[in-house]
Amino acid sequence: MKYDVIIIGAGPGGIFSAYELTKKNPNLKIAVFESGHSLEKRHCPIDGDKIKKCINCKHCSIMSGFGGAGAFSDGKYNITNSFGGTLHEHIGKKKALELMKYVDDINMQYGGEGTKLYSTSESKFKKLCIQNKLTLLDASVRHLGTDINFIVLKNIYNELEKKVDFFFDTPVESVSINDGVYSIKTESDEYECTYCIISVGRSGSKWMETVCKELDIGTKSNRVDIGVRVELPAVVFSHLTDELYESKIVYRTEKFEDSVRTFCMNPNGIVVNENTNGIVTVNGHSYEDKKLHTDNTNFALLVSKHFSEPFEDSNGYAESIARLSNMLGGGVMIQRFGDLTRGRRSNAKRIEECTVTPTLTATPGDLSLVLPKRILDGIIEMIYALDKIAPGTANDDTLLYGVEVKFYNMEVDIDEHLSTKYKGLYVIGDGSGITHSLSHASASGVFVARDILENV
Ligand SMILES: Cc1cc2nc3c(=O)[nH]c(=O)nc-3n(C[C@H](O)[C@H](O)[C@H](O)COP(=O)(O)OP(=O)(O)OC[C@H]3O[C@@H](n4cnc5c(N)ncnc54)[C@H](O)[C@@H]3O)c2cc1C
Repeated sequence: MKYDVIIIGAGPGGIFSAYELTKKNPNLKIAVFESGHSLEKRHCPIDGDKIKKCINCKHCSIMSGFGGAGAFSDGKYNITNSFGGTLHEHIGKKKALELMKYVDDINMQYGGEGTKLYSTSESKFKKLCIQNKLTLLDASVRHLGTDINFIVLKNIYNELEKKVDFFFDTPVESVSINDGVYSIKTESDEYECTYCIISVGRSGSKWMETVCKELDIGTKSNRVDIGVRVELPAVVFSHLTDELYESKIVYRTEKFEDSVRTFCMNPNGIVVNENTNGIVTVNGHSYEDKKLHTDNTNFALLVSKHFSEPFEDSNGYAESIARLSNMLGGGVMIQRFGDLTRGRRSNAKRIEECTVTPTLTATPGDLSLVLPKRILDGIIEMIYALDKIAPGTANDDTLLYGVEVKFYNMEVDIDEHLSTKYKGLYVIGDGSGITHSLSHASASGVFVARDILENV
């Protein structure tokens, strides 16, 4: 029951820690604990037929299990310090980019070869955006697609399972420290280790809070992004998506000077439910395989909310908004843009007559009863701004799903080694609050593995 390294959470952060440790020191005894299922057992019961809505599984298969929240993601690995987290503030910009490229190389070796790397450098759309009060952020993005991403994960798992003890369906209940040795408790057993890497992602955010309280590790939380997922005919954005795949565009609203941004763009993709701690929100992804393409493109429009003293519970604020939409819609709500601007709810008939066929079954409703005015105004302004570079965005039949929330885990107090004040206890990935993406989370995993390797 004694390991050199225990990793809690088998998302991209945990996986890349395990990968790097086993590659560089095969003698290390490593265990990975994961509350969700192994990859092949992960399955969301929503089939759109018998089960149409989220049934609140004990462990959401979209968010938990080998591959973490990344398993059914779009597999967009953004290689940039401009968004996706603030890892570079801890480890430096150069190192962060170098590690993201290293992760990309590994993904290519394990099944991703042949997928396309897109780049904004020298894109003509930068000028077009500026001319329309929009800013296109710089990035290179590797799009694996949900299908290839899954294959990469499977291949990495096949390699890791020979060297690592995996404990699936085994949530860790507590972490304690005794004389420099970490004790990891599950429902039925207790394990010890010299180094512990916590990589529990968004789904582990509540648990992470408890651990920080118990071990007196500092945290701060003051930001959350709230908005909607937009779905429209793929042709409306095809000039951008064909060249860039994903365009991260930022707009400063005229009314409030708030920042609204596009996020997680999925050309020819589908909109999906996401369940975080019992709250149902939306997300999206798309496949690399053209046979699985839809006629629609989806992306999120998010407004960042930063709170100042005395309010600290930014996630609690967003949760209340998401709960309100769940209360009114029994889950995710859908509304035509034309209905929203006319101040009326969408109903089943209007959605049925809509020229855009929704890829997610959601309850027709009125998002203005859910989203705060300031946020909704920002989203509407941004839709009209995008309409100038992608005419058709502001069409009446553009679909809006709500709500989309980007919960930022509270930021855990970690140093430039991504270590807590306890030597050997690391917090990485989205669970640390400093990464919000596949590439940053994976890079943080490699980084701590190397830190441990230097100390072993
Ligand atoms: C539908 C969808 C699409 C996405 N698309 C993209 C995309 O295209 N590009 C991008 O950059 N990002 C995308 N993301 C976000 C991306 O998936 C995350 O940023 C990334 O997975 C974070 O990795 P992580 O390892 O930090 O955490 P996670 O992937 O969340 O993994 C954490 C793991 O820890 C486990 N865990 C939690 N608590 C415990 C506990 N107490 N004990 C044991 N295990 C525990 C969880 O079950 C989970 O499997 C998407 C997310 C979703 C849901």
